[in-house]
Amino acid sequence: MKLLKPKVAIIGAGIAGLSCANHLAKQGRQATVFEKSKGVGGRTSTRRVEPNLSFDHGAQYFTARNPILQSLVKVWETNGIVSEWKGRIVKINNKEISNTEVIPRYVGTPGMTAMAAELAKNTEIKKETKIMEVKHSSNQWMLRDEAGISHNGFDALIVALPAPQTAELLFNQPVGKIAASTPMAPCWAVLVGFEKKIEVPWDGAFIHDSALSWVARNSSKPGRDATKDCWVLHANAEWSAKNLEDSPESVISNLLESFTNAIRRNIPTPYYKTAHRWKYSIGSSFINQTELHDESIGLAICGDWMNGGRIEGAFLSGITAAECILKKTIQ
Ligand SMILES: Cc1cc2nc3c(=O)[nH]c(=O)nc-3n(C[C@H](O)[C@H](O)[C@H](O)COP(=O)(O)OP(=O)(O)OC[C@H]3O[C@@H](n4cnc5c(N)ncnc54)[C@H](O)[C@@H]3O)c2cc1C
Repeated sequence: MKLLKPKVAIIGAGIAGLSCANHLAKQGRQATVFEKSKGVGGRTSTRRVEPNLSFDHGAQYFTARNPILQSLVKVWETNGIVSEWKGRIVKINNKEISNTEVIPRYVGTPGMTAMAAELAKNTEIKKETKIMEVKHSSNQWMLRDEAGISHNGFDALIVALPAPQTAELLFNQPVGKIAASTPMAPCWAVLVGFEKKIEVPWDGAFIHDSALSWVARNSSKPGRDATKDCWVLHANAEWSAKNLEDSPESVISNLLESFTNAIRRNIPTPYYKTAHRWKYSIGSSFINQTELHDESIGLAICGDWMNGGRIEGAFLSGITAAECILKKTIQ
């Protein structure tokens, strides 16, 4: 049966869930988004420490190869939501430094959260609401949150979570089993601020032969405060998995040492340092989302993990999920 105004619930206010909500809103359909955190953006977010000190601790930048995202990026650039990061990005391999392919790399301004905040406009977001259970009965979805509160009466449900969390929530659905077979690697991130600039002739580097996989001068991105030298260091997946339960202090000390070795110079004592553990950072597969949509119960899923594991994939998967649900509505 087609519905005129279906009541739609979306779980997860990352780029995928918000892109989905935004696409539905553009077609005149409102959704309610449930998000466990205080803010939106998920893995595309910014840690604000104090007014002039913030770090993009998850996603570093994004690329736009698809025309839909490319045209949105043009609008966002005009409105100051994103800017091209023109920093020099290199590869460091066995102490050899080489340039990477020159492609437009975009960042949110003043932080990566900017895109999520923009997509979230005009959508009802229930923050600090972690969904623990979902049930479908009598043609409706019921969601139960961590506080035991039920959210009832949804005609459609879109799950926009990393694969392992999708698998947990939808363990009794066929799609839950597919999600369970997509592993997602952890990532330890270290965020450091220096009073004195570290003199390297580049702004971001993919690192090989090290515990680190990526380092970036956060303060070189457009719209950031450049008076302080702020860096984000990401450990590689193997090191992060091996040291998953280490204390933040030990992770900071190890990764600062790897940083010193990778850039082959001493670093000053940071005036700020902290570590953040991403339990699920990147996992990538290409799954036919439309085939997974269960129209009989109004269930769709989206997320980066089913579409290449990046911001662009998350964004596009949100649109596909919205289109699946729109098929069931009277236009
Ligand atoms: C360290 C790191 C570096 C990265 N670097 C890049 C990069 O440079 N470029 C790039 O394109 N991509 C990068 N990525 C990947 C990028 O961040 C993701 O592709 C994208 O943010 C995924 O969006 P999403 O909406 O699919 O998932 P998420 O951002 O994970 O969104 C899921 C949301 O669901 C919420 N949630 C989870 N469980 C529940 C629940 N039970 N109830 C309610 N809410 C819940 C979470 O809090 C989160 O907000 C990186 C990721 C990490 C972690």
